[in-house]
Parts: sequence; structure tokens; C-alpha cells
Amino acid sequence: MLPSDRLRDKLITLEGKGYAAYKAIAGAFRFPRHVLYIDHVQPDPFAPPSLLRVQVDMAEAQFPRDLWDTPIRRTALEDFIARRVRDVVRRQGRRWGGRTGALQVDAGGQEILPRTACRLYEDYLEVRLSLGLPAEGRKIQAKQAQAVFFDDLPAAVDAALRFASLDARGAYRHVQVAEDHAALLTELRDRGLVAFVADGAVLPRESGVSDLPLSPHRAVPFRAPPELSVTLSTPHRGPVTGMGIPEGVTLIVGGGFHGKSTLLAALLRGVYPHVPGDGREYVATRPDAVKIRAEEGRRVARVDISPFIADLPLGIETQAFTSENASGSTSQAANIIEALEAESRLLLIDEDSSAANFMIRDEAMQRLVPKTLEPITPFIDQVRHLWETHGTSTVLVMGGSGDYFGVADTVLLMDHYVPRVVTAEARRIATGRDGRLPEGRPFARVRARIPLPHGFNPYRDRRIRVDARGLRTIVFGRETIDLGAVEQIVDPSQTRAIGDAIFHALEKGYFDGERTLGQVLDAVLADIAARGLEVLAAGEGHSGDYALPRRYEIAAAINRLRTLAVRQAE
Ligand code: ADP
Ligand code: MG
Repeated sequence: MLPSDRLRDKLITLEGKGYAAYKAIAGAFRFPRHVLYIDHVQPDPFAPPSLLRVQVDMAEAQFPRDLWDTPIRRTALEDFIARRVRDVVRRQGRRWGGRTGALQVDAGGQEILPRTACRLYEDYLEVRLSLGLPAEGRKIQAKQAQAVFFDDLPAAVDAALRFASLDARGAYRHVQVAEDHAALLTELRDRGLVAFVADGAVLPRESGVSDLPLSPHRAVPFRAPPELSVTLSTPHRGPVTGMGIPEGVTLIVGGGFHGKSTLLAALLRGVYPHVPGDGREYVATRPDAVKIRAEEGRRVARVDISPFIADLPLGIETQAFTSENASGSTSQAANIIEALEAESRLLLIDEDSSAANFMIRDEAMQRLVPKTLEPITPFIDQVRHLWETHGTSTVLVMGGSGDYFGVADTVLLMDHYVPRVVTAEARRIATGRDGRLPEGRPFARVRARIPLPHGFNPYRDRRIRVDARGLRTIVFGRETIDLGAVEQIVDPSQTRAIGDAIFHALEKGYFDGERTLGQVLDAVLADIAARGLEVLAAGEGHSGDYALPRRYEIAAAINRLRTLAVRQAE
């Protein structure tokens, strides 16, 4: 490790030189309050930015032990610190205008996720940043670089990496909402609930492209119907009252624009904790919930969709259904079976994103089109079997068909954004109409599948290429995995981790033709649990841009890899 003056000396000699000369500054440098590691120096101004780490001794940072002495607290505090660093470097970055000279840190959106941007260890904390090293054209701007390393970075360390200069109440609040969310999840499990929405929660978002809450004077706060009102206990906010959705089949009905989809969208994000001020801090959904939708055009590899679709024209097999271009209904069926295979026990479904013929076949249609001509057993005929024989609950938004009244345990009517319980009324209506006949063979079980190694090829032009592009695309070798319909990926850093998790599984030999997909996921997640998300990093540099994905989304990506080859387990 060199004293920081040596970095200054090196930089002075670089002014105006060709960009490649920057590589001389790689190394470790001791500053008064931190150590700077320059791990990777970009070869030219247009390459991915250079990678830095900053370490501060705990003796210097002085974060009170009770902010990070459990895994949940630690994750939340790491998240909090990364956000504060981002606030500081963003303000600094505005000075620089262009893309070089600005420090970046991979802090998250509205969810609090385990991530690698900031890590707390026993004796020190580390923040991972990236930086486009300053240049004019291809010429080094050493003075600017010096300003980043000797002014900006130390200022960020002072402002964000020392407890004394941080908003202490904000830090505690951040940790507390994460801990309260975890407590709600425990309460859900103990009480046989699948989800909870606290009174006063703000579910609607600012816009279709913003995940920030709708402004308080326009949002109608959530209010639980008395029949479903429960009070759960949390360590920090104490007893919290709100709506508990029981296990089983729950139907959300109501007129258009009354907030059905907004409620469901909040539930699908409720598997994650949210930052203070989000409005959904006290919304919790059991962690194995999976949003299901139709996804025309996706690939499907040997999925047994026969509970939903049998006897396709041309004798196409549906016990091991394969398609390069699944239809709306076959894709939705495959999405359900794959979610169950990955061990989800709560399906979240919105009519807005479902295939109509997958959801329902009404009485009139049953009369006109005989079952012998209809391969589809609609979801309505399996939803109770899913619950009663398989223990899988469903929360379903359905404003367009009353046929589901007869199969729901709980019916909620959204009325101006506020739910009412109308189960009894819906039952009464259902019993008066018995024209529709149940169809199909009852759902029994999911057949596990075993991925085969030859289906994974990370190479392109003889080089390994595994990369994420934004939130919903992974490049894997020559393939592009489209995750456009995988709505519970909430952070591009999860997407990056998913791509690298698949590569990790491949490298470790987990795709050995013996392990089921579920066992592969177990193995990958066990590695991450034991050694941190950093275990996924293959290339050089610091891997400070991962966030933890769930097993369902890793499975979803594997299932959407167009070269995936599987066999069914016995
Ligand atoms: P639906 O699915 O019932 O047709 P949506 O959930 O799509 O309705 O909501 C319709 C509109 O109302 C959306 O623009 C949404 O942001 C807004 N909205 C939803 N819930 C609330 C609420 N609690 N307060 C204010 N606006 C809301
Ligand atoms: Mg809707």
C-alpha cells in the first residue's frame, strides 16, 4: 500500500498523455481516513468505467453495533450507506457534466435488497464504486482525476461513511422497516396468511415509469375491510393493523380503474422490504409468491402442462410440452407449472396480463364447443385442486367474469381503491347459476425436470459472454434471454446476478444431468448464502453491482434460455 501522495505524484506526470497511461495508477493508496483501491483501470474513455473500492476502518466509521448485528440489519444498513454515498457522488457528479469524472455506486430503487455495493465486515466497511477516468478526447485530464480522488472521494467518505455525519434517525428507521417487514413475514406464516397490507399504506405509484409513491394528496390510503382486519406485531412499530389475505383462493373484483391491479402489483413487490417513505413498508407477501402471466412467443422446454392443456391438434404432446413459440394459454400454463416446480406456493394473477381462454370457458362456450374440441382446461377448473391437493394459494384479479365466484374462498370488491369483502354475496350468486360444468383431470403433481449440460453455452466468438442489459435482458453466449414478462425482477443488479448465477452453476458443474432444476437452484443459493453474492464474480474488478435475486427469477431465466435442454425426472 502506498501513501496517497504517491497517487498525486503519478497523476501529475500523466497530464495530457494518452489514455492508456492511466493504468499506472492501479494499486492501493492510504488516505487519512480511508484506503483507496484502484482495482481496474479502463483501457480507453469509452470502455466500461474503472473500478474502485474505498475501505474505512470501523474504528473510524463508528457504526453502532445494533445497526448491523443481525443479517437483516446488516443488509439494511449496507443498503442505507450505499444510498447515502450515491446521494453525495450524484451531487458532485453534476459538476462534471459529461460521462467521465463522475463517481457511481450501485445503490438500489425502492426495495431493500442484499447487494454488493457496500459491505460491512468486522473491522472495516467497503464501498465499491466506478469512475469514468477524466479525459479530453483520448488525453488524460489528470487535474480532474486528482480532484475526484483528493476532493470528491474524501468528501464522500466524510459525509457518508462515518456514522457521526449521517442522519442517525434515518439509519435506524431504514433498519427498522426492514426488520419489521421480516417480522410480518413470520406473522404471515404463523397465521396462515399469504399477504398483509397495512392500513394507511400507499399502493399507487407516481406513474407507469416511476416506482415512487403517488403524491399523498392524490393517493387514497389503504383501509382493510373489517372482516379481514388483523393486527400483526412488529418489533419497531408495535402492533400494525391491516388486511390479512388468508391462504386459499382469493378473488379481487371490481369495476375498471378501481385499483385492482394496483393492489396486486403491491402484493407482488411485497416479497421485498421497502425503503422508508415508499408507502409499501408495511405490505408483506409470502416470499414464495410468483406473478403469473401469459407470455406469447416464449420458449418452453418439456414442461408437463397437461393439467391445463391436453390433446392439442396434430397430436402434440403436452406431458412434455416443448415450443419455440408458445401461445398465450400454453405460455401461461408453463409459467404456472414452472413456478410450482421452483417451489412457489402462491400464484398472483391479473386478468390484464392473462390469456382469456386460459382463465375461463363459460357456460355458453361449453355448450357450443364440445370438450372434445377444446384442449384447454381453464384455470378456473384447477385453482381449487391447486389449493386443496397441492397447498398452492392464488390471488386473482378478475373483473370480467363472475364464474370464479364459485371457486373462491375470499372475494374482495375494490370500491374507489378500498376493498370490501363480498364473499357471501358472491357465493349466493354462484349457487343460483349451475350451468357451467367442471372440466379436465384434477391437478395432481409437478414433474421435476433435470437440465442437461449441453444446453448451456456461454461462449460467443470463443469468449465467455454473460451480461445483463438493463432490467429484463440477459446475454448468455449467443443467446438473449428475454425476461420482459418476469415482473418480480425489480433491480438490474438482480438481472446481472441471475446471468452470473447461471454461469456459476455451469462452471461448478451443477448442471450435471442428474440434479433437478430445484437442486441446481439450491446449490447456487447455498454458495451465495455461504460466501456472499461476490461468489458469482468471474471477471476482474470488484463485483460491486449485484443484488440478490430470488430462486423463482433464476429459474425463470433458465427456463427462457432458448437452448435449454432438459429431461423429466422419473
Ligand atoms: P383496475 O385494475 O381496477 O382497472 P388500476 O389498479 O389499474 O385499476 O388503477 C387505476 C388507476 O387508479 C391507476 O392510475 C392507479 O395509479 C390509480 N390508483 C390505484 N390505486 C389508487 C389509490 N389507492 N389512490 C389513488 N389512485 C389510485
Ligand atoms: Mg387492472
